[in-house]
Amino acid sequence: MLSNADFPVYFYPEPNTMKKLLQRPLYDQGADPEQVKTILSAVRRKGDEAVKEYTRRFDQVELTELWVSDEERKASAERIPVKLKEAVALAAANITAFHQAQISSGVHIFTQEGVECWQRVLPLERVGLYIPGGSAPLFSSVLMLGIPALLAGCKEVILATPPSRQGNIHPTILYAADVCGITRIYKAGGAQGIAALAYGTESLPRVDKIFGPGNSWVNTAKLLVQMEGASIDMPAGPSEVMIASDSSADPCYIAADLLSQAEHGPDSQVILLTDDPELPKAVRRELERQLPALPRKDIALQSLKAGFAAVLKTRHQIIDWINHYAPEHLILSLRDAESVLEQVQHAGSVFLGHYSPESLGDYASGTNHTLPTGGSARSYSGITLDSFRKCMMVQRISPQGLAALGPHVEVMARAEGLSAHQKAVSIRAKQVRNRTKSLDPDLLSPRPSILRLEPYICARDEFEPEEALLLDANENSLGSLLGGENHRYPDPRQTLLKTKLGSELGIDQDQIFIGNGSDEAIDLLIRAYCEPARDAIIIQPPTYGMYKVAATVNNVRVLEVPLKPDFSIDLEPLLTKISAARITFFCSPNNPTGNLLNSESTLRCAKMSPGLVVVDEAYIDFADQSGMLEYLCAAPNLIILRTFSKAWGLAGMRIGMALGDKRVIAIMNKIKYPYNVSRAAQTAASMALQKRKDWADQTRRVIRLREQLAVALGELRCVEKVFPSQANFLLVRVKQAAALHSFLKSRGIAVRDRSRELYCDDCLRITVGSPRENEVLLTALKEYDHG
Ligand code: PMP
Repeated sequence: MLSNADFPVYFYPEPNTMKKLLQRPLYDQGADPEQVKTILSAVRRKGDEAVKEYTRRFDQVELTELWVSDEERKASAERIPVKLKEAVALAAANITAFHQAQISSGVHIFTQEGVECWQRVLPLERVGLYIPGGSAPLFSSVLMLGIPALLAGCKEVILATPPSRQGNIHPTILYAADVCGITRIYKAGGAQGIAALAYGTESLPRVDKIFGPGNSWVNTAKLLVQMEGASIDMPAGPSEVMIASDSSADPCYIAADLLSQAEHGPDSQVILLTDDPELPKAVRRELERQLPALPRKDIALQSLKAGFAAVLKTRHQIIDWINHYAPEHLILSLRDAESVLEQVQHAGSVFLGHYSPESLGDYASGTNHTLPTGGSARSYSGITLDSFRKCMMVQRISPQGLAALGPHVEVMARAEGLSAHQKAVSIRAKQVRNRTKSLDPDLLSPRPSILRLEPYICARDEFEPEEALLLDANENSLGSLLGGENHRYPDPRQTLLKTKLGSELGIDQDQIFIGNGSDEAIDLLIRAYCEPARDAIIIQPPTYGMYKVAATVNNVRVLEVPLKPDFSIDLEPLLTKISAARITFFCSPNNPTGNLLNSESTLRCAKMSPGLVVVDEAYIDFADQSGMLEYLCAAPNLIILRTFSKAWGLAGMRIGMALGDKRVIAIMNKIKYPYNVSRAAQTAASMALQKRKDWADQTRRVIRLREQLAVALGELRCVEKVFPSQANFLLVRVKQAAALHSFLKSRGIAVRDRSRELYCDDCLRITVGSPRENEVLLTALKEYDHG
């Protein structure tokens, strides 16, 4: 069937030829714009009556009712084969999953202190989906448009589609609409259908946006109503596929993919690019073989006649051609599909590897098949959930914000000569300037819902513990078979431990929160002070991972202000952003870098911050400075985290602390689980504090071992740098972290590979071991050096 002139092969064409070959034929809309205009204006004037009139003329059917009845909708399900229903259900589930994952709420930040800006994401209220009837019932388009419309939350979804000669709508279209929950189906096709959606009629409200594919009448009508202010999804043209392939591709698959596009319509575009000079011949042979069996072979052949294959020298050229053409569909049937994808800038939807035919995306994998054609992939995306949503911008400026930002706006307004703009600021500014001094934002107020929460009441406090009969907590009154007081719940207020800690640290008991590790304190602080989906925390990578985990779990945004490459605080960007966060985390000594962060800078941030500043001092006992406890009185928004897991050697007991202003501590105690620290843990920590001198001695030994280990590691060939550490671990840059890590693993030695952290390329984090453990580690590393 294919002549030599059909689907020709060009070998190594010059750049100029490329431009010519990739020029799309001028798309003949077919429909006469003047005639379309007449239809539009008739529907605008006469509404449903005109729609019926054009339906009689173009679809040869006399309709008395333009809306599909409930009976017709319901009866459609009975006419659909079970197998098709199952397939539709699977496709709908995948499309739902992919589009549901796109649901996001807008950003909400303080661009500077007192200047709060956010986005409200809202569904479009009323949308119209146009589904062609014509030669094939495109029920897949119903799913592709209906599912995101409903997920986005559009209140009214109206489907318009042309009736058959009998006045019916194809049952598969009705069935797919039913699957999407669309109940309002208007029987109108072509320009009159678009006009009804755009202007509304007596029975049909005008919609806010029109979606969907269609013939030239439909597209011309969409473009014309757009000029009058209606909103449409995107300009539509003939469908297209570009396939890039190499010698790893199977010519049968390539031919099948070309044909699947070609059968769409005679004007469909099909292009094959390859660097394998043998491939086009084989593909042509396959086209010859597969084409005759297709019911739509005549359409496909016409499309193939306009298509071509090009053999190119390099991957680079292939990528150039793709980006120049900006195809609607791109199949990368290549050995290195992923790395080519990295360089593709313009394409509507991309199919990677040999087992991702376009058909799967057309129907059921989950991605949307409504895509930009005609090169508009350069600037348009396919349909996403956001096509059915819009974003409202909101701001709220506090008096302080106005005082800070207002003067700059006045300067700008003056420079533009818009003095009324300037006045709108200055008229407020005078008053605000007089007021701001006395206004102090309440730094320490938690989320409103937590303020409203009733505090947990521990009735046992009202009894003498020795004498009381404790029948209030459903414990096992016969006791624990393990003995002791284990059948009793632990003290929810940890009074004894807090007394000891208070005198150890020189602070009041009500400045101490005790939790299940300091990890619990991190989580509680985020939960108490950050409104999900609205507030943000700041972290300074590379740093301890739990801050991000806790924020993410609580749906709180994470703003990253990286440390400088020497791991010190990057003060300027931090101060710029600090007002956007409810909590800013400092880790000192920092995990995994081991260095202390500067206390003065931290304090400056605390003073500038409208939220909490949390300084995590899990490793402070190993440092040569005493941490920030003494600054607690200087900044009420400063919270310090400490733990019994490190220097105190009680990681297994899970006890950590937050120290700070008693208002914050009270909030944490209010929302913690009552028995968050076990009886055994409270006892162990109390006992540890009693022997604090022994612990201090042990900590000094760890520090000595750290310094010895640092020297010994520094002498190894596989080690490039040992970072100075104030903690009980060392960050070590090695020649090849991954290889060394797995070598140590094979020797049964666990260290942490941190090479994926910022500025930590090829870095391992090694905990200081016991003398024997350090010896074994060093012996293994020396062997590695020599092997
Ligand atoms: N902060 C830092 C910096 C840590 O490295 C760790 C644990 N590795 C923690 C907090 C958590 O400590 P805890 O055992 O008290 O939960």
